[in-house]
Amino acid sequence: MEMQRTYNFSAGPAAMPESVLAQAAQEMLSFRGSGMSLMEMSHRGKIFESVLEETIADIRALARIPEEYAILFLQGGATTQFSMVPMNLFKNGKADYLVTGAFSQKAAKEAARYLDVRVAASTKEDNFSHLPDLSGLTFRKDADYVHLCQNNTIFGTQFHHLPDTGNLPLVADLSSCIFSEPIDITRYGLVYAGAQKNLGPAGVTLVIIRKDLVREDLPETVPTMLRYDTHVKENSMHNTPPTFGIYLLGLTMKWLLQNGGLVSARERNQKKAALLYEALDRSQVFSGTARKDSRSLMNVTFVTKDEKTDAAFLALAEQKGLVGLKGHRSVGGMRASLYNAVTEEAVLALIAAMNEFEEGF
Ligand SMILES: *Cc1c(COP(=O)(O)O)cnc(C)c1O
Repeated sequence: MEMQRTYNFSAGPAAMPESVLAQAAQEMLSFRGSGMSLMEMSHRGKIFESVLEETIADIRALARIPEEYAILFLQGGATTQFSMVPMNLFKNGKADYLVTGAFSQKAAKEAARYLDVRVAASTKEDNFSHLPDLSGLTFRKDADYVHLCQNNTIFGTQFHHLPDTGNLPLVADLSSCIFSEPIDITRYGLVYAGAQKNLGPAGVTLVIIRKDLVREDLPETVPTMLRYDTHVKENSMHNTPPTFGIYLLGLTMKWLLQNGGLVSARERNQKKAALLYEALDRSQVFSGTARKDSRSLMNVTFVTKDEKTDAAFLALAEQKGLVGLKGHRSVGGMRASLYNAVTEEAVLALIAAMNEFEEGF
């Protein structure tokens, strides 16, 4: 039966490439001639081992990750990294945080359980509608690291430049922007991302860490599962990893590689975002909520003049098969998430619905 797929703008879990889903469906009952689904197999067997190795190699190729960095597949979401980072990078017991949205605020709060957190910059007083000016930023010289969230999923803002942290390792939450464009990993000490926005299904967290930051002399009280050195030594196989999620993440990496890598991904993402922001800037009914210089390529947040009108637009959009557009309650209105797997066709369908709504207004 031919199934009508929706235009899915969900912030996460989010749209996956259709070809990835089709391949997974085809391989569901018998993976690579084994007579079993991948999810039924031992993670210690040859087949899963090769899936894991291929996925790591594909990530290295796609994002040019050198051997000085370890690639880990962990569990517990990006949220678990909010505590793993301070527990593992703790040396002097100090870290500087940029607070630019809900997730960086949570990360800073969690880190404060373990070390002395200084908020180096915050845009909370403007409801996180823009990013801080980086030029005047200073960091404590003896901080163990500087943390930021590069793309603020809820508020629709994104750092397009990184602060200069000198010798201090930069740690970044890339959950909602990872591999949406080329990345210079050497600018970072550690990056992490929950998979469910740009990488695959929920249940896997990708961590890329510079190996010299992996400490083996941690206090005895740091649990084995929350130590990066455990997962580096055992290649993410200390316990049963999320095998099916890693496989789908791997298929998504192959899809990116087959479609021109991260340079082409950036072109597609810039085009989609430009189309939608231009439509917002032209509109008499809709307006973007993020300041122009801080706009995200991934999460486009916008409102009408009031909640009733927002609701009317969301209802029209749903009728047209455009789903996942309701904004987060802290911003209201609408949010269109334009992750890698969201097509230009979907964005054009959204703009057409906005135009139709505006004409009938
Ligand atoms: C979604 C998201 C998170 C939370 O991720 P979980 O995997 O649900 O823990 C954290 N940070 C950012 C930037 C996000 O977009």
